[in-house]
Amino acid sequence: MLELSTPVQYVKGVGPRIGEVLAAKGIHTVGDLLHYLPFRYEDRLNPRGIAELRPGEMATVIAEVRNSGLFRTRRMPIFQLTVGQGRARLRCLWFHATYLQDKFKPGQMIALYGKVEEDQRSRELQIIQPQYEVLGDPGEGGDNGAEKKAAESLEVGRIVPIYESAGQGRLTPRWFRKAIRTALDNLTPDLPEPIPAVVRSHMGLVSQRAALWNVHWPEPGESLQDLQASRTPAHIRLIFDELFFVELGLELKRRDQKAQTGIAFQLDDRVRAAIKKILPFHPTPAQKRVLKEIAADMEKPYPMRRLLQGDVGSGKTIVGFEAAIIAIENGCQVALMAPTEILAQQHYFSARRILENAGYRIVLLTGSLEADRKREIRRHISQGNAQLVIGTHALLEEKVEFGRLGLVIVDEQHRFGVMQRLKLMKKSGEGDDGSRAALGLAGSETRPHTNQPFTRPAEPDVLVMTATPIPRTLALTLYGDLDLSVLDELPPGRTPIVTRCVSDDQSPKVWEFVRKQVAAGHQAYVVYPVISENEESELKAAIKMYRELSGVVFSDLKVGLLHGRLDSELKDQVMRMFQKGELQILVATTVIEVGVDVPNATVMVIEHAERFGLAQLHQLRGRIGRGAAKSYCVLMTGGKVTEEGQRRLDAMVRTNDGFQIAELDIELRGPGEFFGTRQAGLPSFRVANIIRDAQLLEAAKREAAAVLAGPNAEISLEEISRALVQMRARWQHTYGLVEVG
Ligand code: ADP
Ligand code: MG
Repeated sequence: MLELSTPVQYVKGVGPRIGEVLAAKGIHTVGDLLHYLPFRYEDRLNPRGIAELRPGEMATVIAEVRNSGLFRTRRMPIFQLTVGQGRARLRCLWFHATYLQDKFKPGQMIALYGKVEEDQRSRELQIIQPQYEVLGDPGEGGDNGAEKKAAESLEVGRIVPIYESAGQGRLTPRWFRKAIRTALDNLTPDLPEPIPAVVRSHMGLVSQRAALWNVHWPEPGESLQDLQASRTPAHIRLIFDELFFVELGLELKRRDQKAQTGIAFQLDDRVRAAIKKILPFHPTPAQKRVLKEIAADMEKPYPMRRLLQGDVGSGKTIVGFEAAIIAIENGCQVALMAPTEILAQQHYFSARRILENAGYRIVLLTGSLEADRKREIRRHISQGNAQLVIGTHALLEEKVEFGRLGLVIVDEQHRFGVMQRLKLMKKSGEGDDGSRAALGLAGSETRPHTNQPFTRPAEPDVLVMTATPIPRTLALTLYGDLDLSVLDELPPGRTPIVTRCVSDDQSPKVWEFVRKQVAAGHQAYVVYPVISENEESELKAAIKMYRELSGVVFSDLKVGLLHGRLDSELKDQVMRMFQKGELQILVATTVIEVGVDVPNATVMVIEHAERFGLAQLHQLRGRIGRGAAKSYCVLMTGGKVTEEGQRRLDAMVRTNDGFQIAELDIELRGPGEFFGTRQAGLPSFRVANIIRDAQLLEAAKREAAAVLAGPNAEISLEEISRALVQMRARWQHTYGLVEVG
């Protein structure tokens, strides 16, 4: 008998070799295999007769291969397949499909699925690029009758699940059907029910066993539409199941945090006056509201865990500084962490500009400092002299001891999400309180304070800032351990950035435009796509273009070069010169993507714009339009632009709104990619889709909170602990995290 936790190779017909192929798909156990859901279902209960097909309908046809062949038109090779039922014939066409040559043999039975169309000229019916599946070879079924029957029963005369192939097509949908069916047939009869009974009954959930069967082998009469939309009771059960245990983990963390001792900062008139004194401009109403929310948290006796979300240029930095003053005026130290060294540098300069006049002591600690200097700065920090410590996330690894850390600000969190934080928790689990605290990750097992006079008596507050536009309900549920503030207003006087898309054979005109802007006293960025720092040839292109721009096109102007491989002192120097206006044009790679703030820069030219992702383009463009002057973004394309690439560029031209751009990005890339661990640091789900299933997500959060509010009349302690054991196992299995809750 198979358990859900049994390694998948023990399913009959799998074995160690195929096990490896499956592992690459994230399928390690029987449970993983059973959660490999069909991406589509085909109604082969009622396959259509060819004679009754009508143009325009989606149809499944099961028919016999008659003949096939490749022919070439002037424009492209076309593969044609003719199938038949008795005298009726149907033609199928695939464009550019040389790979289909020799794929089909006359006499084979095949299932086809696609949209029926009428050929313009001949008026014959055809299906263009249908999905297909070979059901059986000619002659198969003689001696092998039983086997064929079994296969057939999984494939025709019912609603059939269609799986994504794996292992470069070696594991076909048909293979998955058989393997999953075998696993289900041998699944242990007493499958445990991890979801507490009260939750199951609230949600009207079917049993796990029923869900796993029906999601793969729908009961007769199940609505095809519900199946396609993942809205059958079986789907809902599995989706809820997945979301519930994620929410349970987050909810537990949230409770843990609220139960910890934090610092109750005082916010009196003196502190208010100190904040007022540093403000270089009038805060927007949104900035005021957000600061209020932050201040209210900081006054509470438990640690703040707050996410500040605001589109690029919405003015998050100053809000961070205001929060810093509250902590500093209360005698605490503040750590401000940025994702890149350039950004840390920049924060350091603006902090000095804004805060140093008021007498605050600020230090910058980055990995590239000389050892002596680092030691000296660390001493300042541990003795409590440094009030605001600015650094990259490497601050965490630097084993910095704070005298009295009160507030941690993490800038541009989208580079550094929930999952990463949880992973780091694991990594820094060995009593390194400094970094654990810096991340807001200290667990409930913090050492007792009594006999260790120099450990920090309370957990610092944590403020996380991000420009990733996550819809509010999602952020609330998914960053379940964080409270949310939104800056939904840009500072006054901004004119919308004008964005144009041109092909790079227009570059002379573009450079002329740049020149005019520079002549008017503005500055410009020219960006090249070195997206991963390993791409030697891309980097060469950026350097080469720098030579051309500085030596030829703009030989009379001051042009600088900035990329990730420069040593940090040079990076720093270039950035500073650009900030001061000593450079007029900055040729750069995506190192300037996040956070860089030079309000006098009004032009950004992005070369090979088609190669950037949408979120990245939006972030990049956010570097301009930061002052009152009108700003221009020119997206230059070089070479062939895919249809999807064109949609990205069109979206950039059409709107400046981060939310709209995110929406399209989600649509183009799918929520998995967009919200995936890489982008936002959110868990990636195997059956849930957090856009489609937003309502289930909220229900899961609610139910998780109710469970943890127990034990009570509805739920026993035993049931709660069973759910928690399950939750830990899942987090460990799926996210590799041992320490949750
Ligand atoms: P982001 O949210 O992208 O981090 P920044 O904090 O860098 O944005 O702010 C963008 C620009 O807007 C900066 O030049 C900043 O000085 C300016 N700014 C922020 N708030 C205001 C305000 N209330 N009035 C005028 N300018 C502001
Ligand atoms: Mg910023």
